[in-house]
Amino acid sequence: MKVFKTIDRLRKLRRDTARNDLSIGLVPTMGYLHDGHIELVRRSVRDCDVTVASIFVNPTQFGPGEDFESYPRDLKRDIKLLKEARCDAVFCPEAEELYPAGFCTTVTVEGLSEQLCGRYRPGHFRGVATVVTKLLMSALPDRAYFGRKDAQQLIIIERMAKDLNMPCRIIGVPTVREADGLAMSSRNSYLTPEERAAAPVLYRALCAAKEMIDSGERDTKRILAAAGKIINSEPMVKLQYLEAVSRENLLPVETLRGKILIAVAAFLGKTRLIDNIMLDLEES
Ligand code: AMP
Repeated sequence: MKVFKTIDRLRKLRRDTARNDLSIGLVPTMGYLHDGHIELVRRSVRDCDVTVASIFVNPTQFGPGEDFESYPRDLKRDIKLLKEARCDAVFCPEAEELYPAGFCTTVTVEGLSEQLCGRYRPGHFRGVATVVTKLLMSALPDRAYFGRKDAQQLIIIERMAKDLNMPCRIIGVPTVREADGLAMSSRNSYLTPEERAAAPVLYRALCAAKEMIDSGERDTKRILAAAGKIINSEPMVKLQYLEAVSRENLLPVETLRGKILIAVAAFLGKTRLIDNIMLDLEES
């Protein structure tokens, strides 16, 4: 497996694969890999001739007071896991490689970036859209893989790729969970044992919402009240938001129909966790 730090080397890999008529899949990550990340790699290895993972803790998507400095990092272990997953190359640039002195161009996906997490993390999705654009422009992959765990991010990137005519298919991969339902996340490593024990309540609440919907309930208020009650019954969890929105525009819906996202963000101590379910309901 090749490991490189420069955009030039990434472009060379792209040129070599194109010359041999091989397809290329890109898996952008911030490292400290877990099985959720590796599932994206597995999907790419299955679909594409060459798979490149990127590992870059992107400073521009962290706000002041967020965990950029303390974000977990373990490149050696990540490289081992990627090798085992049969990834072909890893791009792990320094910040200066992606953000040269004088950098002043950003990508903003209007509207979608201001909902849900965007309300509490201003500028976050501008940072995400900008770095993903730079990675896509550098690797020029045929397909790029993103987790549904970060549903708003996936929806924003799909919109951006469409709006900017990016020649790349964006593939969403289902959330990989621990045995007790907790969505895998690099940030789970921050949790104390007590917080870790409480954390699955988020997914339990989402499953309860889904059960109500499966038995015919469509009233958002009633569904969110029931799910919110489950979350609030866990004293270690501080709910930030719990919303049911349309996947088209991420705006709240009163009655559930069509493509729906039920998304939650909550703090366990200092750790902010997110989770969601996506539902495809009859339009009428
Ligand atoms: P991150 O390193 O957290 O920026 O995540 C890199 C990619 O992995 C993003 O597309 C995430 O949505 C995806 N990802 C993170 N956790 C999971 C998970 N539990 N299941 C599936 N994909 C995930």
